[in-house]
Amino acid sequence: MLKPSIFSQTQAELNLFLRLNDVSTQLSSIIFQQIYKNKFNQELSNSLSLLLKKTFDYSVPVINKITTSEDGTIKFLMGLEDGNQVETVLIPFFKKYTVCLSSQVGCAMNCSFCYTGKMGLKRNLKSSEIVGQFLVARQYLQSQSDERVKNPNIVFMGQGEPLHNSDEVLKSIQVLMEPMGAAVGPRQITLSTAGYLPGIKKLSHYPQINIALSLHSPFNDIRKRLIPINQHFPLEDIFFEFDKLDLKKKQFITYEYLLIKDLNNRSEDALELSKWLTNRRALINIIPFNPFPGSEFQRPTEEDTLEFKEKLVALKLRTMIRTTKGSEILAACGQLNSLIEQEFPV
Ligand code: SAH
Repeated sequence: MLKPSIFSQTQAELNLFLRLNDVSTQLSSIIFQQIYKNKFNQELSNSLSLLLKKTFDYSVPVINKITTSEDGTIKFLMGLEDGNQVETVLIPFFKKYTVCLSSQVGCAMNCSFCYTGKMGLKRNLKSSEIVGQFLVARQYLQSQSDERVKNPNIVFMGQGEPLHNSDEVLKSIQVLMEPMGAAVGPRQITLSTAGYLPGIKKLSHYPQINIALSLHSPFNDIRKRLIPINQHFPLEDIFFEFDKLDLKKKQFITYEYLLIKDLNNRSEDALELSKWLTNRRALINIIPFNPFPGSEFQRPTEEDTLEFKEKLVALKLRTMIRTTKGSEILAACGQLNSLIEQEFPV
């Protein structure tokens, strides 16, 4: 029988298992802590460690390839047990790293501007494979004795639509947030969605992490050309669900706005955006389109990008431009495609 992964266990679940095996709650906590400190074998009695090893699977993804870009971005091609691969990216930001996690092998959304979509969906990742990406990336930083290693922030912006694999993603978040384990805070986690409505409806069961929507156009007819699922889940339905979320004081929803040359940077786009967002707690994050081999769109110039930002700021919308990192190694937003990595190693 397939063993459950130790990295899909919350502390309560592991405690329960250990209690049934006559282990005290106090010792269970120590065990949980040690698992995440990678000191697993050091202080446990042999019989207990044997029992755990017999019951649980301890494997994590293996690093098949590491590519580093000049700006310090590190892209990992991670191998999974069934031979599939996903990409995980570490992005440096001042004194910290952000780790960009994949939630699926490939993606079913088929967004016209995204390289991952070209792979199609191979399969969902298990929560342990998501937690595993984090642990492997963090361990890599530790091995480089990089001081920025402490608790990297997490963004679910790698391969896949996280809300299309909602149960496993939620479980991975619960495990990553365990105070005695990886101890990642909810505000250190951002989940980005293309607007997959059935998943958005489940967000109220999530801890209060940051939510980002890939908006890209305030007009449904343009948006559905970019994000085909908008046909089924138009903006009014998405906003209807978002408005039900109980945001904390000072909490925003981030609206990612992929800026594409000559497509969505007109004054009417800005005006329509303000209609949707003025009375909502919104932060707009402009992402200049990152090209990839064979892409049909073009990146806007820096001037175009600044000009569009000014239009939004003039409409009193809180707006930032996301600086592109790792694009020369195809590690930036929308450039992750682990099939191509497999076929054409650089
Ligand atoms: N499926 C999720 C998360 C993955 S994509 C989502 O759609 O939100 C993470 C972000 O990168 C999204 O905002 C996505 O729209 C953006 N993105 C995709 N392709 C891109 C590209 N070629 N250039 C810049 N950003 C891109």
